[in-house]
Amino acid sequence: MKKLIVNDDTCIGCGACEAIDASHFMINEEGLSSVISNENIETGEVMSAINSCPVNAIKLVDTENSDECACDNCEHCTHHEDNN
Ligand code: SF4
Repeated sequence: MKKLIVNDDTCIGCGACEAIDASHFMINEEGLSSVISNENIETGEVMSAINSCPVNAIKLVDTENSDECACDNCEHCTHHEDNN
């Protein structure tokens, strides 16, 4: 299963991802991008949004076959330095 992740620490809230694919990304109350859906994520729009991010804040990770952290950097995460 694949999942979209936006890194809050990296996102600058430029809005490019939402402008390209508003069915998967939305600028939230904090002015940063949030993933609003993980349905049909292997589309051209999603890939364009990922590639258009100026700070590479968006990742599409395979939650089963990847060493990459697939969480949203929540308080319980042990993968990120901030939470260790
Ligand atoms: S394109 Fe990247 S920097 Fe811009 S709002 Fe989306 S995630 Fe944030």
